Amino acid sequence: MKEQPSVITSRSIPKSRRALIGLTTEQLREKSVELGFEPFRGKQLAEWLYQKRARTFDAMTNLPAAFRDALSANHTIGWPEVVSTSSADDGTAKFLVEYADGNRVECVLLPYEGRAGVCLSSQVGCAAGCVFCATGAMGFTRNLTPGEMVAQALVAEDRLVTQSSSATTRLSHVVFMGMGEPLWNLENVIQAVYLLNEEMKIGMRGITVSTVGIPPAMRTLAEEKLQITLAVSLHAGTEEVRRQLVPVARKYPMESVFAAADRYFDLTGRRVTYEYVLLGGVNDTKEEATALAAWLRGRPAHVNLIPWNPARSISEFKAPHREAVARFRNVLESVQIPVTQRFERGRGIDAACGQLAIGKRRR
Ligand code: SF4
Repeated sequence: MKEQPSVITSRSIPKSRRALIGLTTEQLREKSVELGFEPFRGKQLAEWLYQKRARTFDAMTNLPAAFRDALSANHTIGWPEVVSTSSADDGTAKFLVEYADGNRVECVLLPYEGRAGVCLSSQVGCAAGCVFCATGAMGFTRNLTPGEMVAQALVAEDRLVTQSSSATTRLSHVVFMGMGEPLWNLENVIQAVYLLNEEMKIGMRGITVSTVGIPPAMRTLAEEKLQITLAVSLHAGTEEVRRQLVPVARKYPMESVFAAADRYFDLTGRRVTYEYVLLGGVNDTKEEATALAAWLRGRPAHVNLIPWNPARSISEFKAPHREAVARFRNVLESVQIPVTQRFERGRGIDAACGQLAIGKRRR
């Protein structure tokens, strides 16, 4: 693992200037006209922001100097400060980014053979308080804007371009599984999804939004009829165990979560993924697996098993035994439920699920 000093700073920029990352090409065209320039300059500006990842107005060399001056007088680019970058041997890189107001979140670049994904944060902290989650232990500070979420993807993609060892220079997958409950920031997350798709050219089917299980918001998302994947973090087969692990389960019983997930499938045709963090001796039992299989039998579902990674700040849980993981998987597969086991990446840099937790305000 290595720590890299940042060379980017946004701390000296006055807050009153609005960030450009987060605006669509159409909005940038309007911005161009508003500042007295031709609409096509807005399209060029969008390319600098989302395709070439320009971090200064001076870098936008095909824009007239007067346009660049007008932009910089009224706007910031919106590129966050990259406070630190931690790299693992498998190519995973975790970025700690800081926004203009001093709030920090983490995002993680996940390179695979010939493709690359990024795990984005949607909030500073999280109010859900899942007992095994390092982010949940931080509490909630604020929602991120669409531009702030997209900026994390730009930081990750920039790393792909600057790393000579990268097999690809473009992100193909985005998962909203970092810090925060995305569906409690739904309007901004939906806008971010559109920006990732239309401006960064990431296919809708390559985008996954996770939720701890908020049925009203799941139904709202379903109404959008996006071709993205919905991933429901279930973490239990029985109501009793789920309530112990996921406090919001006391408000939203499993039946209501599955009903909303079914609605998502009905409106989008997209099979729902169920995320299940296996905690040794807690939810990795045969009883939980059998109960989960009963819920999922006949549903268009896919289960992603995630053996627990011991986070530094949450010490009371332990990793499941290998035999328990195999048994859990067998119970589900015996009733034809597709199961994958998440390949653990970035463990050495605390970049695995439930381990992002450094979003403290600096000032
Ligand atoms: S697991 Fe997700 S929803 Fe639960 S506290 Fe952590 S970040 Fe929030």
